[in-house]
Amino acid sequence: MHQIDAVVVGAGLAGLRAALELARNGIEVAVLTKVYPTRSHSGAAQGGIAAALANVAEDSLELHMFDTIKGSDYLGDQNVIELFVQEARKTVYDFEHLGVPFSRTEDGRINQRPFGGHSSPRACFSADITGHVLLHTLYEQCVRHRVHFFNEFQAVSLMIEDHVSRGVVAWDIRHGGLHVFHAKAVLLATGGYGRAFKITSNAHANTGDSLSLILEAGLPLEDMEFVQFHPTGLYKHGILLSEAARGEGGYLLNGKGDRFMATYAREKMELAPRDLVSRAEQTEINEGRGVGGMDYVYLDLRHLGREKIMDRLPQVWELALNYLKVDAIEAPVPIQPTAHYSMGGIPANIHTEVIFNAAGDVVTGLYTAGEASCLSLHGANRLGTNSLQDAATFGRLAGGRMTGFIRQAGFSPVSSNPLDRATERIERLISGGNGTERHARLREELQENMTRHAGVFRNAEGLGQLQKTVRELQQRYRNVRIDDADQPFNLDLIEALEVGHLLNFSEVIVEGALVRTESRGAHFRTDYPKRDDQKWLAHTLAWKTDSGVRLSHDKEVVIYMDRFPPQERKY
Ligand SMILES: Cc1cc2nc3c(=O)[nH]c(=O)nc-3n(C[C@H](O)[C@H](O)[C@H](O)COP(=O)(O)OP(=O)(O)OC[C@H]3O[C@@H](n4cnc5c(N)ncnc54)[C@H](O)[C@@H]3O)c2cc1C
Repeated sequence: MHQIDAVVVGAGLAGLRAALELARNGIEVAVLTKVYPTRSHSGAAQGGIAAALANVAEDSLELHMFDTIKGSDYLGDQNVIELFVQEARKTVYDFEHLGVPFSRTEDGRINQRPFGGHSSPRACFSADITGHVLLHTLYEQCVRHRVHFFNEFQAVSLMIEDHVSRGVVAWDIRHGGLHVFHAKAVLLATGGYGRAFKITSNAHANTGDSLSLILEAGLPLEDMEFVQFHPTGLYKHGILLSEAARGEGGYLLNGKGDRFMATYAREKMELAPRDLVSRAEQTEINEGRGVGGMDYVYLDLRHLGREKIMDRLPQVWELALNYLKVDAIEAPVPIQPTAHYSMGGIPANIHTEVIFNAAGDVVTGLYTAGEASCLSLHGANRLGTNSLQDAATFGRLAGGRMTGFIRQAGFSPVSSNPLDRATERIERLISGGNGTERHARLREELQENMTRHAGVFRNAEGLGQLQKTVRELQQRYRNVRIDDADQPFNLDLIEALEVGHLLNFSEVIVEGALVRTESRGAHFRTDYPKRDDQKWLAHTLAWKTDSGVRLSHDKEVVIYMDRFPPQERKY
């Protein structure tokens, strides 16, 4: 058993920023991460981090706030958005002081580029490797401040009793074996859940583990039906071509060579928000205007010229060349929508404290930040570059909040059997019994069906089928057998555990989407194509019970009616 003041689960931008804050405040902190810290998914972020610095054009906090609210299709909590835009500038300057090599303007200020849904160039960037430089800088700083790293440790259960967090149980991937981490405060920062879908930009590690653990602990998830589909996924691979490609002036062309966004968002064109562009693209494809009648359209960068592409978008160029053998300087690149960002997650209040009901009651000592969390900042649709900022800002604020708690709290006692649940699960998978199912097969079936029925467009019939499929897959999962019975580096076991998580929370996505009979942000129902504020201007909370998913829509959206009342969302 390890006893330590603070445990951070996840070493992406959110986890590392929280750990750094705790360590700077003199708190002993351990970071558990299933992949090596600098392999965390944040490192793949390309385009930029949003803050209204007004370095290249006029901008204001009010405008950043309005863009984010409108982007969220009015489901974002406006008090959280207000705090976010206020803190964003501080977060960027703090990164600058930590040594992040931002791209610069001619006169030496942090450069900023346009991004979808933002009305001013607001994305601070480092070429198209922004996430990489932020993550590496934070990791260096955490090492410098003596954060304890438990790399390749996978959290497998949460120690929560009577709504008090007592720590985490984790599996040591390298050597095998379970470890108890007894902590005063725990932060869950395990990233998004895009791996529930077949076509996704998300890393293999993004299996929403802590969301599933939250459900198992009898706690709810929030707004899980809101999954963002990014318009520029590399055809068939789903790998992301950054929105920076459109920010720098790239065009979207259909099979006839038309810039089809003129039909859908005449003013913003390619720089309309992602939900809108993805629907436009999918409509072109569904109506036979994909390239050669196929299921893709083109991202065209040719007019930007070699110099700009290689200076501003080198990674986009390289990805297209490596994966599709397309040289973006010479030819347009085939793309399709890809599951990209998880707006839903672990419900938390504005202080990053995990809550367990619509009244906002708190699980003592449990915090969450980054893509795993739902504060709710992004509402029904996130704007590009707001999520690195979300992870860094609320990671930093979580670290501060946890510090205050830890300074006045003692260690809550741990039950006599903290390993029981995890041991039982792992032994069942390793011993296998007479199981005949393969976790890889179940994962494939889940991902295919999620992309087909819970993708860019949804309807009651497809979601109803999907509900049945997910339940069947959950049944079949009970019969999974793995081949590798060893403990060290048992990736068969790790993947089997992850498939269990995917199946667990996917049911919540489907149920939430089925019940929400409206279209809002990224959740588009072809059978209910309009937003319905009368009925659905509310957050979804979802619990797993023995008789299935229980939903509640009692959690109100925080709206400043005098400043930002809901309006029709047009671009
Ligand atoms: C290709 C791509 C490009 C993007 N570009 C941008 C951009 O330009 N701007 C922007 O704002 N946003 C961008 N995003 C979104 C943004 O990168 C993410 O939302 C953000 O980085 C998430 O950070 P995080 O710290 O929450 O999670 P992550 O960076 O995903 O980190 C999750 C961490 O949790 C750990 N973990 C997971 N499960 C467990 C477990 N069971 N036990 C222990 N550890 C666990 C992992 O090891 C990892 O360290 C992009 C996303 C993608 C996919």
